[in-house]
Amino acid sequence: MRKPVIAGNWKMYKTVFDAVRFISELKDLVSNVKDVQIIVAPPFLAIYPVVQEVKDLNILVSAQDVFWEEEGAYTGEISPKMLLDAGCNYVIIGHSERRQYFQETDETVNKKITASLHHGLIPIFCVGESIQQRESGKTLDIIESQIKRGLSGLSASDMKDVIIAYEPIWAIGTGKTATSKQAEEIHAFIRGILKGIFKDIADNTRILYGGSVKPDNIDELMVEPNIDGALVGGASLKAEDFARIIKFKTKLR
Ligand code: PEP
Repeated sequence: MRKPVIAGNWKMYKTVFDAVRFISELKDLVSNVKDVQIIVAPPFLAIYPVVQEVKDLNILVSAQDVFWEEEGAYTGEISPKMLLDAGCNYVIIGHSERRQYFQETDETVNKKITASLHHGLIPIFCVGESIQQRESGKTLDIIESQIKRGLSGLSASDMKDVIIAYEPIWAIGTGKTATSKQAEEIHAFIRGILKGIFKDIADNTRILYGGSVKPDNIDELMVEPNIDGALVGGASLKAEDFARIIKFKTKLR
């Protein structure tokens, strides 16, 4: 059984004050949720204050990026060790906005994943194709190459906790969601690739969908057998919307 994960990527939104207020609203709305892992990913500055707010709650904290070195003369960077020290359990790696605006490549993604795992920080590893790649029939090749390069050198035991997020770039922040069938096709494909590399571990890997997930489309996405949760951007910024997504309805609930 894969415990579903609903993770909110706040991107470059929310001051420390806003972040703390958000948690105080969210916690009451989701206090009775036990069967979903709730994660929030605030900007770096709000991580520590949010960690203090979620202590003893059913909410864990993720960063949105990390550098691969432990410490050193790397102005502006944050290491896995620092994130763990601040109380983070997860880190989003390879988000398409990092790939698009900050020269993230499959190689740097791989270094970040490897370093994070080495320190005990769990990666939420993002992959996804652009609209041009989809329209020219390259989606499966792109996803396969991102997965294989991003996870290169990892053992099955390294892979035990890694979370994958399939986020088609054309669906991020655009209001266009992949249909649940489109998403399921890629999630099943990803699980097949993972089985080829990591064998039985692949059945336990959570694969999240991301791209304009909202309260009104989460239920149909979560019906699909290989969709194990969602990485939510815009709709994770409002406590009520995020809580509704966390409380998605399936036949099981
Ligand atoms: C994201 O940033 O990971 C994302 C999926 O954004 P949105 O939900 O706004 O499309």
